[in-house]
Amino acid sequence: MKHIRQFGGGSAEGRAKDKALLGGKGANLAEMASLGLPVPPGFTITTDVCRYAIAHAGGYPDGLDAEVAEALAKVEELAGAKFGDHSAPLLVSVRSGAPASMPGMMDTILNLGLNDDTVAAIATKSNNPRFAWDCYRRFVAMYGEVVLGVAAAEEDDEQPFDRILNDVKAKHRAHKDQDLSEAALREAVALFKAEILRATGTPFPDDVRTQLWGAIGAVFRSWNNPRADVYRKMNNIPVAMGTAVSVQAMVFGNLGDDCATGVAFTRNPSTGVAELYGEFLTNAQGEDVVAGIRTPEGIAELAKKLPAAYAELARVAKLLEDHFRDMQDLEFTIQHGKLFMLQTRNGKRTGTAMVKVAVDLVAEGKLTPNEAVMRVDPAKLDEVLHPTIDPKARPAFTAKGLPASPGAAIGKVVFTAKAAEEWAQRGETVLLVRTDTSPEDIHGMKVAAGILTARGGMTSHSAVVARGMGKCCVTACTALRVDAPKKTAAFVGGGKEIKLKEGDVLTLDGSTGEVFVGPLPLVPAKLGAELGTLMQWVDAVRKLRVRTNADTPIDARTARSFGAEGIGLCRTEHMFFQPERILAVREMIVASDETGRRTALAKILPMQRSDFAELFRVMDGLPVTIRLLDPPLHEFLPHAQAEIDELATSLGLTPQQVAQKVSDLTEANPMLGHRGCRLAITFPEIYEIQTRAIGEAAAEVARAGVAVHPEIMIPLVMVPEELRRLRELVGKAMTEALGGADVPFTIGTMIELPRACVVADKIAEHADFFSFGTNDLTQTTFGLSRDDAGRFLPTYLDRGVLPSDPFAVLDPDGVGALIELGVRGGRATKPGLKVGICGEHGGEPSSVEFCHRAGFDYVSCSPFRVPIARVAAARAVLAEGKA
Ligand code: PEP
Ligand code: MG
Repeated sequence: MKHIRQFGGGSAEGRAKDKALLGGKGANLAEMASLGLPVPPGFTITTDVCRYAIAHAGGYPDGLDAEVAEALAKVEELAGAKFGDHSAPLLVSVRSGAPASMPGMMDTILNLGLNDDTVAAIATKSNNPRFAWDCYRRFVAMYGEVVLGVAAAEEDDEQPFDRILNDVKAKHRAHKDQDLSEAALREAVALFKAEILRATGTPFPDDVRTQLWGAIGAVFRSWNNPRADVYRKMNNIPVAMGTAVSVQAMVFGNLGDDCATGVAFTRNPSTGVAELYGEFLTNAQGEDVVAGIRTPEGIAELAKKLPAAYAELARVAKLLEDHFRDMQDLEFTIQHGKLFMLQTRNGKRTGTAMVKVAVDLVAEGKLTPNEAVMRVDPAKLDEVLHPTIDPKARPAFTAKGLPASPGAAIGKVVFTAKAAEEWAQRGETVLLVRTDTSPEDIHGMKVAAGILTARGGMTSHSAVVARGMGKCCVTACTALRVDAPKKTAAFVGGGKEIKLKEGDVLTLDGSTGEVFVGPLPLVPAKLGAELGTLMQWVDAVRKLRVRTNADTPIDARTARSFGAEGIGLCRTEHMFFQPERILAVREMIVASDETGRRTALAKILPMQRSDFAELFRVMDGLPVTIRLLDPPLHEFLPHAQAEIDELATSLGLTPQQVAQKVSDLTEANPMLGHRGCRLAITFPEIYEIQTRAIGEAAAEVARAGVAVHPEIMIPLVMVPEELRRLRELVGKAMTEALGGADVPFTIGTMIELPRACVVADKIAEHADFFSFGTNDLTQTTFGLSRDDAGRFLPTYLDRGVLPSDPFAVLDPDGVGALIELGVRGGRATKPGLKVGICGEHGGEPSSVEFCHRAGFDYVSCSPFRVPIARVAAARAVLAEGKA
């Protein structure tokens, strides 16, 4: 079996389609080489070898060394240099590249092949000893860190090689890396080697083949490092995929001022605007740009500094974008004015850019509308829909950095990833504030609402990762000083200093780069014209209707502006959370007889009637599903003494009597208790009066010309008899309340218990529609409390016992199978039975696709997820076509 694919010299073994075997980087290098683009020669060791090494304790398949030797010989031939040679030595880079993009998560080694002999040869050949020693010091440090594992202690902000380099810089009065003389660089190399010997007990390896195999091994191992692991879990990348390793002849961006290195996007990855976008550094190597050590220049400057190379870059960028029919993220190096391409991949982008690029590519004739829909990641639309800072309440900013990833975030500041995790676990919303982030910080970035760094740029680690996560991020906030060990920071500038300590609140604006001390009011997102265009294509394709879960007119209005086609769930008990209303609900709950309950219900009736009337007006012409009361009692009983006292006064009882009543009503398992329709079986007047409120409201707005379509929904049905009785009661109350007004209404049920799924055919005899309540159905199918699962579910996810949180992503095998059974049963009795979902899963893309396949009529989700569900519904149809 062949484990290696060669590329360079205008040809390649392999193409972009071979990502599974060559990784994204290797496959696209092959594609670029075969397109005749300037790619330094090299070879890729396949992902098969990674999988083999994992299964064989790091061992390699037989014959790999011979294949590497042969491939290296071809690279030597194409590059006109020899690995380890004392007069014309070849230097190589060794890079990771998984089939799925995992930016910065695995390791890379540059300038490999240097030792005391080859560095001298490079110095002579390039006639630039400073350059040779600059490469050497970079290589020794990188090799020491990545391959030999020389690292700082956990709490130390500075890595050993950085510390040594900073000391050398200070000693030689060099401000920047480029200011270091050859002598200073020689000194750094000697100190680096001494540090390696001290830290590992073994000298730095001079033998170039030892170096190469060390690097190959380290890159394969980095597939399993903790940050790669976290990233894989977040992005559902299977560990069995493995990484490839690409070994490639080095080209140098640090040979002088006619050299540069940079990254570029074929379109702006924040806004999607069609412009060459990116940054570069002259006289530098690629790591300098990504690491944020020096502040790079905008790509437009390159047109002034190296016009010919810029023109070539623009040509290649256009060619690659047209070839891949998608926005590309490019890495390049310019060596003495000549451009070399080191990488191309589909660029990570914000939600806004995702939508704009997809729509623009259709306008440019490169994609069909349906292809554009398939290019949109529905979950990423979240970012387009996120709130921003209210412009009317925008004070002067405290500090400013680069707008690395859009949206606004408010949170308490923490200064380490560890602290971010701890605070987040306590339920706090945090902002991770760092001098710079490294991939080690990914677990902290994951839980943070936003990220702020003093260093970095638009393509530094924090920016790329935050953008990928759709998190607000501000980088390069130069006024910021962070002292992580002391848990403090400050904004310094203009002779002023504003101090911050852990837990202080900041507001970040990732769209402008502005930072504010304290919380600011946010306003909901506005939808751009491109989203409207995309949504037209989406709506033309999808079969599922999308409704919203809304309990208030504000939510209903927001949802309607996002395209909701009605309300799929109005939780009436949620209309009572305001303090002045909850008292009436409590009076009803603790009432000891029907008269007491009717007195409390009489207070509730007018409030409900006006709430419903407003919802009907907002949803004019669309269905509104109102669920009758389903209060898990523990959410509504008073617990604090003040609440008990208030209730006692209102009822003319003593606090002791109320406390006794509360104690009588307290259940061991309230989620499985006296809730849902069980409450109305015991106290029918509750549903009777709620229905009266619905009917009277409907009659009132219908008379005013509103098209009202109420759908009354009975929760938590376990036996058909419950629904039979309650349907009769509700139907009668509704007809009476309507008083002859012409309002067509239906009565249906939630299906949220396994038993209901099993006897769905019988339940359907009394139902006009089914709405699957997958929150309770998941809880009861798994036997997993909705309220407590968070305590141990994370362990299940971390350890891979469950693939995802079943309360977020519908479990297709268990809950899904019950749903299918329920749909089949219901439609066996009533072939046209309307079926929907109103659990949280109704806005989660893979769950929406499940609902499409299961033949649902609609999904219902929170307002902000309505567009996401619409896109997911369309993608479900298109995916079917493909299959
Ligand atoms: C459900 O159980 O899925 C549901 C929508 O109802 P609730 O979340 O109010 O129990
Ligand atoms: Mg429920």
